[in-house]
Amino acid sequence: MTTTPEPYNLYHHVQGQKVQGTSGRFGDVYNPATGKVTKRVPLASADEVRQVIRAAADALPGWSAVPPGRRAQVMFKYRDLLIGHMDELAEIVSSEHGKTIDDAKGSITRGLEVVEFACGIPQLLKGEYSESVGTDVESYSMRQPVGVCAGITPFNFPAMVPMWMFPVAIACGNTFVLKPSEKDPSCSLRMAELMEEAGLPKGVLNVVLGDKEAVDTLLTDPDVAAVSFVGSTPVGEYIYKTGCAHGKRVQALCGAKNHMVVMPDADMEQVTDAVIGSAYGSAGERCMAISVVVAVGDETGDELIGRLGPRIEALHVGPYTDSKAEMGPLVTPDHLKKVRDYVDTGVEEGADLVVDGRGLKVEDHEEGAFLGGCLFDNVKKGMRIYEEEIFGPVLCVVRVDSYDEALELVNEHEYGNGCAVFTRDGDCARHFTTSARIGMVGVNVPIPVPVAYHSFGGWKRSLFGDHFIHGPEGVRFYTRLKTVSARWPSGIKDGAVFNFKAGGEH
Ligand code: NAD
Repeated sequence: MTTTPEPYNLYHHVQGQKVQGTSGRFGDVYNPATGKVTKRVPLASADEVRQVIRAAADALPGWSAVPPGRRAQVMFKYRDLLIGHMDELAEIVSSEHGKTIDDAKGSITRGLEVVEFACGIPQLLKGEYSESVGTDVESYSMRQPVGVCAGITPFNFPAMVPMWMFPVAIACGNTFVLKPSEKDPSCSLRMAELMEEAGLPKGVLNVVLGDKEAVDTLLTDPDVAAVSFVGSTPVGEYIYKTGCAHGKRVQALCGAKNHMVVMPDADMEQVTDAVIGSAYGSAGERCMAISVVVAVGDETGDELIGRLGPRIEALHVGPYTDSKAEMGPLVTPDHLKKVRDYVDTGVEEGADLVVDGRGLKVEDHEEGAFLGGCLFDNVKKGMRIYEEEIFGPVLCVVRVDSYDEALELVNEHEYGNGCAVFTRDGDCARHFTTSARIGMVGVNVPIPVPVAYHSFGGWKRSLFGDHFIHGPEGVRFYTRLKTVSARWPSGIKDGAVFNFKAGGEH
């Protein structure tokens, strides 16, 4: 008989030390596959967070003075350590988030690519120079660190999303306080240890665990200069407004409802594969998951539903320890309830539930937060399952008669993170890419996540602030531009410049 070990307490990571929480408040971390609480996460008090911010502020003068080439050396070593610790990190991610090991490794690799981008920081920080902007006057620009930066991250990518932030911020010469999701914080703690193993001075990257109280302290403390947030729209809007009101630079990447428009001429086999991967991968808990398919023409809709149904029913759902699993559980029992409630709502609203995953049982994991893939047909604008972000393995198919109607749906939705069009027609694809009011657009690519040396972000209520994350926009966010105008009277005319005297006078 196996016994479940007692949950143990996690710790904050401050100045390279494991620091126990003193607030007396704790949250639960689950293994979503078993439904059991495995760890307790200390929820920091405002005073504890202030101490972490002080640690980052103390480390700032030293780190910002380190030449960019030497900062890059830390990133090169960190990259090697991430590769060496890939299995360990993936296990941490999967055991707290629930996603399959392959999904976890894929997400760590996407984070690693941002680290590789940050290795090029000396090149990225280069300024511009103009000679002779006036007589004897030159002008040049430089990008300097903004100061102490904070990162507040969601549960769905516990490795990748923090790595969208801290490698770029730190390579730019800032110090960092990371406040990961309290649902799966362990990967952030391990990544901070690895950064120090790579040579990062203590205090440059700190991890504080907590909830709203911690976040509010980061948003209001005068020593925090910039805040990066990734999470849901209501929280992101609050973070943007509060951070800005306290004089901080804020980027808040938020919720989504990503549409895939399927034209009648699309390759339906390719579409079906793309939908299965993008709607049900990672149990739909991706901000770039396809959650709405807009089928143009009834024949397209019929064919799609006919092809998708059996594929969704055949999905192998199981714990990350099952190497055959294609989809894991949802992150917590609460989140499972929220997603199931949406499925109930869709039925009440009159949409056709073609595949119902609510009855799924995973053997030996009856308490796990599992939900089978769900597919709704004939979803209409105005239904809650269409308008709201569900963040689970639930796909809505909306049928329309024309491309124009499809584009209108995409453009009228409050979210504008990602979208895709599947077609063989270049004219249609070009019109869609230029007309969609969406931050990231795919053409026959279902999840158009930009590579690390481009920038990631949405439009409309999927992003508050002016900057996308990572890539060139990330460097701009984590630096301030300074422009210098300098006059050096040459003195050549009277010959004085060559007339040096001993002792440095001239
Ligand atoms: P969430 O908004 O609940 O939490 C995100 C972070 O905010 C966490 O660290 C949490 O502790 C903190 N937080 C929660 N409530 C708060 C409050 N009232 N005040 C201050 N801080 C608070 O998001 P989540 O459930 O962890 O993640 C899922 C959401 O993240 C989805 O909406 C998803 O679309 C979004 N997301 C967006 C992107 C993107 O790039 N646009 C990427 C990943 C996830």
